[in-house]
Amino acid sequence: MSVTPPRLPTLFISHGSPMLALIDSPARRFLQQLGKTLPRPSAIVVVSAHWESLGGPAVSLAERPDTIHDFGGFPRPLFEIQYPAPGAPQVGEQAATLLQEAGYDVKRSTSRGLDHGAWVPLSLMYPAADIPTLQVSVLRGAGPAEHERLGQALASLREQGVLVIGSGSLTHNLYEFRGQDIDEPAPAWVSEFSAWMANKLQRGERQALLNYRQEAPHAARNHPTAEHLMPLYAAMGAAGAGAQAERIHASNEYGVLAMDAYAFA
Ligand code: ZN
Repeated sequence: MSVTPPRLPTLFISHGSPMLALIDSPARRFLQQLGKTLPRPSAIVVVSAHWESLGGPAVSLAERPDTIHDFGGFPRPLFEIQYPAPGAPQVGEQAATLLQEAGYDVKRSTSRGLDHGAWVPLSLMYPAADIPTLQVSVLRGAGPAEHERLGQALASLREQGVLVIGSGSLTHNLYEFRGQDIDEPAPAWVSEFSAWMANKLQRGERQALLNYRQEAPHAARNHPTAEHLMPLYAAMGAAGAGAQAERIHASNEYGVLAMDAYAFA
């Protein structure tokens, strides 16, 4: 008799500044409890804004992924953090095959480690670093519909108890970060965008969400480049048609970074 694996929601997580790994905040406390509230995944697939590929998605198949410190100008303790989760090459090969079957030209990497879009939130959600983890890239220059389709291709992995996480940021204009304090209130152009996204997600207004760039207030100001929002669409796609979005966290850091998180189930 086989045991049916737990059916997990898919998640969109705002990973914020890498300092999230070190500095207490509401978003950090949220992530610290989030891992405890979910059934234990058999493996984790992170679609990270910090891995972009051209022409087709890339999938990491490393057995022992390195911790990539892909940032500069932060304090030394941040560079000393290691997140030694095992890789998941078999699940990665399944993901690569599913993406190929969906028509993508897939790149397989056996050397790619975990970037901070993956390890910063996972170090808070699963500090034991004992769940096999792999990454899938976002598609450089591709929009919401293409990332929804990328997520859809991965949806069947959930039947094995795999947790699919899109890791980005609900708002992400670092040009407007000028040394604000972590608890600086969000300006209206940030909070109006976050509120619009919350409304459309919770009402399931898919077409409006796919057209966010034209329809959402201050869309281009919140996402001068769109790669930090694309993981949201991948999480949405991986949840399957008819999934309901729930906002499971909302806060802001440094005024300009909305740290909102969503579960799709
Ligand atoms: Zn980021």
